[in-house]
Amino acid sequence: MTMSLDDVRYELALANRIIAHEGVLDGFGHVSVRHPDDPGRYLLARSRSPELIEPGDLLEFTLDSEPVTPPKGEMYGERVIHGCIYQARPDVNAVCHHHSHAVLPFCVTGIALEPVFHMGPVMGQVVPMWDSRDEFGDTDLMVVKPEEGRSLARALGPNWMVLMARHGATVAGRTLHELVFRTVYSHANAEIQLRSMAIGKIGALNAAERQRAEPRQLQPRPMARAWEYWTMRLQKTGGLPPAVKSRASANGSKKRISEGRARRSRR
Ligand code: MN
Repeated sequence: MTMSLDDVRYELALANRIIAHEGVLDGFGHVSVRHPDDPGRYLLARSRSPELIEPGDLLEFTLDSEPVTPPKGEMYGERVIHGCIYQARPDVNAVCHHHSHAVLPFCVTGIALEPVFHMGPVMGQVVPMWDSRDEFGDTDLMVVKPEEGRSLARALGPNWMVLMARHGATVAGRTLHELVFRTVYSHANAEIQLRSMAIGKIGALNAAERQRAEPRQLQPRPMARAWEYWTMRLQKTGGLPPAVKSRASANGSKKRISEGRARRSRR
């Protein structure tokens, strides 16, 4: 099923808010999705905190991370993270960059993030580490140059999550829902691994368990169940994004506005 651009814009605003509400993103970090009709573009918000993102904040970028039309506001400095991963990985359709406080201790110590419970393998079989010092020496740690984004994408390789030394992490997904699932549960795994390491020696899942658990957890039913749960949690706080104002409604069409309201009320 192909979603309309307006539906994708609403879902991306919702995904930003869900990941923030679940405690992975804070005032910083961002989520993007590949354009549903043009694999050579992606959608990403203007520079704004993820929990506040509305469909109207979303901008279109080329895979070189140039805005398709000149934006009115500021853009995220680290948007090359998204563009470079979409260039390197045709199978990736959604990306999240974050600075989760549960994941950061692994980025600081270099201790491997490993699946330690049954949901953990959704972060991928291996979580590589990228260190900006290796290729770029002393920087301000921000990934803003295309060559830095390409280096990070190379470190991600065929995996689904890459740790960034002294900075954070970047997660990829084949769909937006899969990305949110991988992001929230890799953060949960990091929290559980940290607590477990504080009280004893960890026993992570073995290779065969990881290979079996990842596809099992990424089936449509568990992903839909989690998506509904996270959406309802957000709804209870009054935190759902406002309805999409499509281009037609911006031109004054009441029909499109009412369609947007109907779409919002169905969720
Ligand atoms: Mn960052």
